[in-house]
Amino acid sequence: MTALSIQQAEPGAATLRINEIFHSIQGEGLRAGEPCFFIRLSGCPLRCTWCDTAYAFREGAPRTIESLVQEARRVGCPLVQVTGGEPLAQKSCLTLVHALCDAGFTVTMETSGALDISPLDPRCIRIMDLKCPASGESHRNLWSNVAHLCRRDEVKFVIADRGDYEWAKARMKEHALVDRVAAVLMSAAWEQPRGAEIAGSAGLSARDLAAWILADGLPVRMQTQLHKIIWDPQTRGV
Ligand code: SF4
Repeated sequence: MTALSIQQAEPGAATLRINEIFHSIQGEGLRAGEPCFFIRLSGCPLRCTWCDTAYAFREGAPRTIESLVQEARRVGCPLVQVTGGEPLAQKSCLTLVHALCDAGFTVTMETSGALDISPLDPRCIRIMDLKCPASGESHRNLWSNVAHLCRRDEVKFVIADRGDYEWAKARMKEHALVDRVAAVLMSAAWEQPRGAEIAGSAGLSARDLAAWILADGLPVRMQTQLHKIIWDPQTRGV
């Protein structure tokens, strides 16, 4: 992975608060394993019990959209992921995505599903992380978003226990998600390290999740977070 410096923004330019930018391997979803340039925006209105990017809630510095596009061009990776935190919490995120698409990048966005995705540039591939009950944030899911998903998008469920699994299964059926998007992803929640900002999730064994999926013949794509296998799970900028 290559961590890149965050420079201060020029006064008056369109800016976003950026937590980190880095060039690494995409760890999740249908593009797992591909080199990817990541732009992580600061801030999130949610507090999922198993959140692994709590450092993005407050840390960050302003940066112009123009300089972010220039940085993506300089790195030269055709795949760019805009992530967070919750990237849609900053309105100028829409402008950033539009500018990256105009510059010819394949742009993906990981979003919580709690904020309206409809104003996003339609060229952007959405990876919507629907929150299960054990996250403590399932009441924040904005279900009207489902109607805006298309066959290029992905839906992800992070599963922390059997209750989450059953809940996700029911939502998949209720919203015909398998027919609506390119992939329905399921991953087991990681145990929160001691001293984490949000203490809650004890995590779930990936083997248990695999056994449940196989027993049900569920048409999902189970995934691990590849970057946490390549590097130490606590490493930032990967
Ligand atoms: S939406 Fe994402 S960044 Fe926000 S608390 Fe949940 S996992 Fe963390």
